[in-house]
Amino acid sequence: MQSANHKFEDLASSLNGNLILPSDAAYNQARQVWNGRIDKHPAVIVRCADAQDVIYTVRWALSKGLKLSVRGGGNDFAGRSLCDDGVVVDCSQMTAVSIDPQMCTARAQGGATIAHLIDAAHKYGLVTATGVMSGVGLGGLTLGGGYGPLLGKLGLVADNLLSAQVVTASGELLTASETEHPELYWGLRGGGGNFGVVVSLEYRLYPISEVLSGSLLYTLDQAGTFLQLFSEFLKTAPDELTIPGGIIQMPDGTPMLLLAPTYCGPLDDGEKVLGSLRKLAKPQVDQIQPVAYNALIRVFDALSPTGLRRSVQTQSLDTLRIETIEILIEQARQFSSPFSALLFHNFHGAASRVPVSSTAFGLRQDHLMVEIIGTWEKQSEDEDQMHAQWVYKTSHALAPYSLPGGYVNLLDETEQARIPLAFGPNYQRLVELKRTYDADDVFNSTIGHVSPGFVNHEVESMGV
Ligand SMILES: Cc1cc2nc3c(=O)[nH]c(=O)nc-3n(C[C@H](O)[C@H](O)[C@H](O)COP(=O)(O)OP(=O)(O)OC[C@H]3O[C@@H](n4cnc5c(N)ncnc54)[C@H](O)[C@@H]3O)c2cc1C
Repeated sequence: MQSANHKFEDLASSLNGNLILPSDAAYNQARQVWNGRIDKHPAVIVRCADAQDVIYTVRWALSKGLKLSVRGGGNDFAGRSLCDDGVVVDCSQMTAVSIDPQMCTARAQGGATIAHLIDAAHKYGLVTATGVMSGVGLGGLTLGGGYGPLLGKLGLVADNLLSAQVVTASGELLTASETEHPELYWGLRGGGGNFGVVVSLEYRLYPISEVLSGSLLYTLDQAGTFLQLFSEFLKTAPDELTIPGGIIQMPDGTPMLLLAPTYCGPLDDGEKVLGSLRKLAKPQVDQIQPVAYNALIRVFDALSPTGLRRSVQTQSLDTLRIETIEILIEQARQFSSPFSALLFHNFHGAASRVPVSSTAFGLRQDHLMVEIIGTWEKQSEDEDQMHAQWVYKTSHALAPYSLPGGYVNLLDETEQARIPLAFGPNYQRLVELKRTYDADDVFNSTIGHVSPGFVNHEVESMGV
């Protein structure tokens, strides 16, 4: 092992951060990610402390001909932040956030999470668009788009990115913004982690200190009729109201429909709008109240602990038809594990009004992005197959009613054929951008590996 470690001495001696090798006690923990099914063995995990470390690590890895992957918050379910036998550029220690309250902007290092950003902004009564849960990395979230509870008013997380500092495949540090490397800036907003290591992200902030939010729960028996009315309700919902939700399971295993509305305008107006929602059907549980945004991002954290085994698919629905409602309810009755869930993200308002060519994000029309999440504890290989099969069956059943593509952040390596569809009219422009900034496909790519006619073997072999 000594000679193996020797290979990394020059790298280690140049870092402000540190590196972790397979022989180190910290190695097994350092290679864990959110999805407990991921079991990759990098040659080295470089815990970068700053942009300089990132530059040095990228150059070093390329000079040795080693593969690279980039880790932010470690939440990607497909484990793209790790690579077998390669170098992990681990940004997870780079979490500093600075706020400019006068300019209403925030700058976060590339490994910061939603919690780091929102907690820092909260001190000034400011927020920005984020995802639903506090521990998700801003890097992956922003680069892939970023659905969240303020989406109707503020757009995607990526829509609020003002600039980014990026270490490219040539080891150069660039700033991408409207005025500097504008094409790269375009691609970073929804194009995924394809163009470099983002060492800092600058966001626009807004003066919102409190929102009206919480949970409404309905029985599955109510859900059939209610979801049809809800689908109509969403068509006229104001920008201030965004309603993520899904079908989750209670501790006793009963599946229930959850709506988690967030209203970010004047609270009195929110009460009125939510009053109309409540009139559609009486929820079994109604826990909506004014809440600080930094508390809201933590409400659902416990539902999604790190380390359980996962399989995930997405389908985007333009509306909830009777057929799709029936599929969702039927598949919820067949949850293969007590931890599995069907979640949906409400895309509308400001996010839908951004012209599709303005950023790389490929789907700019109102929709519900349905996340089909199989979650279980390891029992056996057969067990893995059974839960994954529930996910694929559900996805397959929804597919005929879905918009093309899927959410780039939640596509896996078996879904290459969906990638051009997910980027839609922006795909060719992204391929060009990839040629300009990363022709050798150094960075964990959702674009570079597409081959026409790719067949989804995993789904086929499961007979769904
Ligand atoms: C519990 C949970 C809740 C979620 N909630 C939401 C949600 O509300 N809305 C939503 O849209 N999505 C949500 N997601 C999905 C999430 O957007 C993706 O999993 C995203 O990739 C997570 O980013 P990360 O930095 O934590 O991931 P990682 O696994 O660290 O990174 C994933 C990939 O992102 C890229 N990347 C990450 N950081 C950088 C960087 N600094 N520079 C360059 N590339 C980078 C790399 O390609 C990397 O391989 C959720 C996921 C989980 C597990």
